[in-house]
Amino acid sequence: MSDSVREREALLPEAEPQNPCCPVCGEVTSFDADDFECANCLLIFSTTNLSASLADSSAPQCASECEDKHHREQIALHGYRYACRPCALSAGHTDVHFTGCRFERIPAEPNS
Ligand SMILES: [Zn+2]
Ligand SMILES: [Zn+2]
Ligand SMILES: [Zn+2]
Repeated sequence: MSDSVREREALLPEAEPQNPCCPVCGEVTSFDADDFECANCLLIFSTTNLSASLADSSAPQCASECEDKHHREQIALHGYRYACRPCALSAGHTDVHFTGCRFERIPAEPNS
């Protein structure tokens, strides 16, 4: 490596690691002493395994119903449908709702 390359590289800054993104709203989380935090969704994420918890576990649930028209209509696709649930976030969150709808197999009709 030439001296000029070494000199130039010595001037360059190191890469800056980014905080993880909130899986609900997609914003980059902020780091608050112990945890990553999403102020939009009122969630905190563990720095060790990134698991989510409610920032305030005593806050009431948002509980908005799923607004996805396709989910509500329960469009059957190859024997599957959406099992919709109310928003799991705390009331007062400011971005998208998180209904966590699961794609599930439609129970078979009992044979008659
Ligand atoms: Zn978020
Ligand atoms: Zn849904
Ligand atoms: Zn909500």
